[in-house]
Amino acid sequence: MLLSRLARLLRRAFNRILPRARALDDPTTRQVEELLSRSYLEGQRAGRLFHAHSLGLPKEVNRAQLRSIRIRAREHALAFSSQLTTSIKAGKVSRIQAQNISGVSARLGVWHGQDDAASDSAAEAGAPWKRWIRVFPRKVHRDYHDALEGMALPEKELFVLPGGPNAGAAVYGPRDWDRAQAGEWANCGHALQYLRQVSANDFEFKRFQRN
Ligand SMILES: [Zn+2]
Repeated sequence: MLLSRLARLLRRAFNRILPRARALDDPTTRQVEELLSRSYLEGQRAGRLFHAHSLGLPKEVNRAQLRSIRIRAREHALAFSSQLTTSIKAGKVSRIQAQNISGVSARLGVWHGQDDAASDSAAEAGAPWKRWIRVFPRKVHRDYHDALEGMALPEKELFVLPGGPNAGAAVYGPRDWDRAQAGEWANCGHALQYLRQVSANDFEFKRFQRN
């Protein structure tokens, strides 16, 4: 299931942020933090536009929400910048590698922002369901992720990975920031869409996939 609108919004966010990542040659910690914070905010913006629309919410956030988003952007930046700057400053990475690391981190920030925007919108709408969806064509082949496409669950329940290195692991969604390691979700291209209600089709689809 390719969600072209969300894919377009995220691509726009990546296009805004990746040239900045590539331009970081010998970055200071502050520049890295700035990049990561900006990446998160771009992802939040893209995610809000898609998920708010999908749940019938206004696309603008209010002041309190904006404050909370800014705080989380800063937290995201602080959580990931030290790791990044340490490897760059250690002098063990070349200039090209440093730019690559910055690019990967910036992408990660965009995804983190979009994931938070999705769950924020769901909480605001009181949407009790979530569905595992494909946003981008896959870069890394993971049948066991693809097997979950279209599956809907109550928001609080966990998806069980049906295969792969973490088979049997229960995750909240793609890029479960607490339960799954990066190797599980790098270049994943999946996301959650939250729903106010699900139709019989969602369950038909689930049964179909299990057979
Ligand atoms: Zn995936």
